Amino acid sequence: MTSATRLMQQQAAPFREGPDVDGFGVARRLNVPVWVFDVDESRIVLANPAACALWGASSEEVLRGRDMRSDMSSTVAKRLKQYQSDFLTSDETFTELWTLYPNGEPRSVMVVYRGYVLPDGRMAMQCEAVSETQDQPQNLRSAEALLHTDVLISLFSHEGPPLYLNPAARNSFSTHNLSFLSLFVDYRDCEALKEQLELLGEHRTVARIHTVAGQRWCDLSAKQCMDAATGMPAILLTAIDVTELKEARDTARHLADRDQLTGLYNRAYLQAHMTKLKQNRKARKSAVVFFDVDRFKLINDRLGHDAGDRVLQQIAYRTRAQLRPQDLVARLGGDEFVILFENVADTKDVEQRIARLSQALSVPVSHGGGEIDVSISVGIALFEPHKSEFNDVLRDADIALYASKQGGRNRATVFTEQMGTAAKARDDLELALKDAVDRDEFVLHYQPRLDIRSGKVVAVEGLVRWLHPDKGIVMPNAFISVCEETGLIDKLGRRVLELGVAQAIAWQEAGLDLNVSLNVSPRQFSDDRLLRTLEDLAAQPGFPTGKIELEITENVLSGDTQMVTRKLRKITEMGYRIAIDDFGTGYSNLSSISRFPLTCLKIDRSFIAQLPYSGPIVRLIITLADQIGATVVSEGVETEAQLEWLARHHCAQAQGYLMTHPLPPEDFIAYLQKGAAGC
Ligand code: C2E
Ligand code: MG
Ligand code: MG
Repeated sequence: MTSATRLMQQQAAPFREGPDVDGFGVARRLNVPVWVFDVDESRIVLANPAACALWGASSEEVLRGRDMRSDMSSTVAKRLKQYQSDFLTSDETFTELWTLYPNGEPRSVMVVYRGYVLPDGRMAMQCEAVSETQDQPQNLRSAEALLHTDVLISLFSHEGPPLYLNPAARNSFSTHNLSFLSLFVDYRDCEALKEQLELLGEHRTVARIHTVAGQRWCDLSAKQCMDAATGMPAILLTAIDVTELKEARDTARHLADRDQLTGLYNRAYLQAHMTKLKQNRKARKSAVVFFDVDRFKLINDRLGHDAGDRVLQQIAYRTRAQLRPQDLVARLGGDEFVILFENVADTKDVEQRIARLSQALSVPVSHGGGEIDVSISVGIALFEPHKSEFNDVLRDADIALYASKQGGRNRATVFTEQMGTAAKARDDLELALKDAVDRDEFVLHYQPRLDIRSGKVVAVEGLVRWLHPDKGIVMPNAFISVCEETGLIDKLGRRVLELGVAQAIAWQEAGLDLNVSLNVSPRQFSDDRLLRTLEDLAAQPGFPTGKIELEITENVLSGDTQMVTRKLRKITEMGYRIAIDDFGTGYSNLSSISRFPLTCLKIDRSFIAQLPYSGPIVRLIITLADQIGATVVSEGVETEAQLEWLARHHCAQAQGYLMTHPLPPEDFIAYLQKGAAGC
């Protein structure tokens, strides 16, 4: 049967007159408006005369013929459906304010609904208008709003069933055995809310609630009040479903808190967490473990960024797997990681855990068919929540990490106050050096290089000195390494080259035939700006082509050989010569030395100091220099015996205190003029 034919039959004679077959006989005689509403068809199927009058219909027939659908909002339709299904399971009645629109005029009536089974077995509802309200329009509107809103509004006794549920709440809450407590997924949320209610009378929170659609996050607003009907204490609860919003916010939060590459927490999260720790009165001592990957730059440079990323991801994964769930791991950026161990008694236990972690991380990382060896350097510092600041502790751990690097990498160091003092001195020195570079407080002193056979000065080495306004002359060992680490060496190195070349030009113009050698640090060498500086200098008028020698250390040669060779060739093509300084102490591959365009090997002074015991090594270097066509120079010659030994073994040149300490340019000229050695 189609719904249309069913409707026609119902309209024709849904209930026969005569004996009270429809159970509506009593209702027909009442003065109170009573009607039966077929929810499925949205039509009134029975109505007593009072109801017809209320609806402004001339007869029951006329009223039956009205299709109510057009005047009904979707929320009302949904609510009626809900009542219909409620009537199937219970005998409950509902009392509600209903605004009717007979002939377009609004009339608000309080209606009691109860279930009514139609002859065909379907559930309809019998509606009884108990009173027409004469309320103020404002009250009517607020009552209407309560019915139509999507906000779940309910009134609960402290224990037991709800006293009132608005339609939205009735739709959402599973009403079976419903109580205030049973609403909550986590009873602790309920307890916390009740606690606040007792304290303040009202509270707002977000909690998970049982609903017919499953567990949902709701923004709950609760108020202590009195039930208007009984005067008993009650709780007025308003709930708004914020599940989607919360999930979106959680996802956004997750993204904001996490490092994209490794999925670990990021710096911002770590900082926020430590701030919270400071606010927690119960928080105890924690250990901040700062670590980074040894020579990570090399992995990135040589194997590519994919390999670098893979190493970082593996480190993150293995670290997480090694630690307990309550230990926090964050990646600060680059190859820097931090672990926070909360509630530690001392650093012993932490050191043991780190030893296990280092071991787990030392298993090579497989990548692109090969394996990458990984080790970490670690710094540990203690965080006392009520005394320390996050940034200070992180800096302490970083200082300890620096000490691990200095100590040879692949180790852990616990921060000490002395380290802090040393680091502070280093920071101060760095600042002072920056100023000194800007104020041009550096000069070169010159130390002669003697041709051993002729006894003549054939070259000089320019050695930098800092003319400190208070401390006087500061020697390079006190500041070159800091300049290297901080990058200041680029500016300082350029200044040294300018000073040295200017001096060489001046000497050449004065008729002195001297090679000038100048030191270039590893970092300065690897910086491409060096080539430009050298080009600029070589383009100067009077540039003594072939007379400026650059001293690089042996370790520079052990990097990317091709790149180094190319760079050295370019430099020699510009008219510079290349010397290897402190030769014999580095790790250069002796057999590969011939590949580089070298003009001079300077034997490290430690070998000269140990003559004649170190004789075999010194002889080997002299032979090697001879084979590659480079001049050999012995550094640190302090005694006649050493000079004599070197002369006997055909070392070409000597430099050392025996001849003179490095001298300022004017003293150097005086030294030459004294005729210590003719040139
Ligand atoms: P270096 O290049 O090996 O310079 C030789 C060092 O040995 C100089 O120390 C010199 O004064 C010292 N020396 C010379 N003869 C003797 C001797 O007979 N006995 C002993 N014990 N020492 C002797 P200085 O000037 O203190 O320089 C130390 C180091 O600082 C240099 O070693 C070099 O590595 C670095 N340096 C100096 N000037 C510069 C510069 O302009 N740039 C860079 N990057 N490094 C520089
Ligand atoms: Mg040198
Ligand atoms: Mg040297």
